[in-house]
Amino acid sequence: MTHQIHIIGGGLAGSEAAWQLAEAGFRVKLSEMRGAPVDKGGEMTPAHQTDGLAELVCSNSFRSDDADSNAVGLIHQEMRTLGSLILREADIHKVPAGSALAVDRDGFSAGVTAALTAHPNIEIVRERVDTLPDSGPVIVATGPLTAPALADQIGGATGKDALAFFDAIAPIVHHDSIDMDVAWMASRWDKGDTKDYINCPMTRDEYLAFHTGLMEGEKTEFKEWEDVPYFEGCMPIEVAAARGVDTLRYGPMKPVGLDDPRTGRWPYAVVQLRQDNASGTLWNIVGFQTKLKHAEQVRLFRTIPGLQNAEFARLGGLHRNTFIRSPELLDATLRLKARPNIRFAGQITGCEGYVESAAIGLLAGRFAAAELGGAAMTPPPVETALGALLHHITGAAVAETYQPMNVNFGLFPPITGRTKKADRKKMYTERARTALGVWLAA
Ligand SMILES: Cc1cc2nc3c(=O)[nH]c(=O)nc-3n(C[C@H](O)[C@H](O)[C@H](O)COP(=O)(O)OP(=O)(O)OC[C@H]3O[C@@H](n4cnc5c(N)ncnc54)[C@H](O)[C@@H]3O)c2cc1C
Repeated sequence: MTHQIHIIGGGLAGSEAAWQLAEAGFRVKLSEMRGAPVDKGGEMTPAHQTDGLAELVCSNSFRSDDADSNAVGLIHQEMRTLGSLILREADIHKVPAGSALAVDRDGFSAGVTAALTAHPNIEIVRERVDTLPDSGPVIVATGPLTAPALADQIGGATGKDALAFFDAIAPIVHHDSIDMDVAWMASRWDKGDTKDYINCPMTRDEYLAFHTGLMEGEKTEFKEWEDVPYFEGCMPIEVAAARGVDTLRYGPMKPVGLDDPRTGRWPYAVVQLRQDNASGTLWNIVGFQTKLKHAEQVRLFRTIPGLQNAEFARLGGLHRNTFIRSPELLDATLRLKARPNIRFAGQITGCEGYVESAAIGLLAGRFAAAELGGAAMTPPPVETALGALLHHITGAAVAETYQPMNVNFGLFPPITGRTKKADRKKMYTERARTALGVWLAA
């Protein structure tokens, strides 16, 4: 079969993109290195264990399936509406998990593999791809564990420093969950008129208790392949804290130049948060990258004054992760601006999670199908979960501090006015459904 588009990587994103294109009537070549013979470069990633397409490398959960008050549940619903293969197979292979959508991982992967194998428009080629094709439409969906030779090629095509190798991530907090009666906006030494940071003050006792919590908190154990040296500038906070009780007060928790408006003095220590998206709904805790277990992070970080009710859009973590600086490099339909025949999809674009990776694969597939059919496709509106996630990746996020991100309401245009949080979530999802309907009708 001569193909019309080449998809590299048969994970969550590549499988979904292949399905969307094939269903639209286009012939797809899908290259996957797992299961390839040795002379075709066959190899596993450090996390995959089978040669099944769309293998889930860690948990078996697609998270909440509540489409009324949860952003990931909403994106499930939107993907179902758009004929997602990943959601179809997830629903078929669902296992009991309360309000979450969890799957039998083997049945799920087998179902996706069977559907793609049986599709007359798809040819699955078991091979490792080491070079980016020079011409013809391509979707790169090789994930966070892209094989090294291709990763080098991508680095060359995007500019060497644009391909980020990232080991530690810091938590991100929803702005509306920060207590601004305790925290205050200021820049250190109040330079100019800018008040760029949210500052959370700590007394000596609070700081010492926090330090002890960091030392004693339960840490995630890592597989051997994740045991890479830390970059000094991206060191987990508990590793820095272990160097001495005052290390953090001379580092990310430095109080100098920050007058607390309630006392007129510098606190004993300060936790700073920096804006993380253009609309200011999300803020990251500066220097707080960590490998503490998630429950431990929530418990400990809520002891920080001002963050006692913090809701986290993303918690910290530590694993090897390859992704590109998408907000700078990709256009609104996921094409590499420098080489528009190449689209990127999945976690390599800087989204985070199975569902998000498949969602971006779905959009990449649809954009490519529209282009092959000679029509332009308008991206979904930012009021939808698909549109909000895409918008974040392709422009809304700050390129210099861009980090992997799950879908969450902080990515949506804010709903303002005095409403209860539960009502506000419903307002987001209802607005999204209306917007998706209008977009589909158009
Ligand atoms: C260790 C780890 C644990 C994770 N745990 C979770 C979790 O529990 N829940 C969650 O929601 N998300 C998790 N993620 C994040 C992420 O959502 C998944 O990695 C997700 O699978 C990403 O989808 P993807 O399609 O972008 O990449 P993948 O699903 O990884 O698919 C990429 C595919 O490309 C293939 N490939 C790579 N290089 C080449 C090449 N040169 N030629 C041909 N094929 C190639 C790979 O073999 C793979 O099949 C985890 C990530 C990692 C690394």
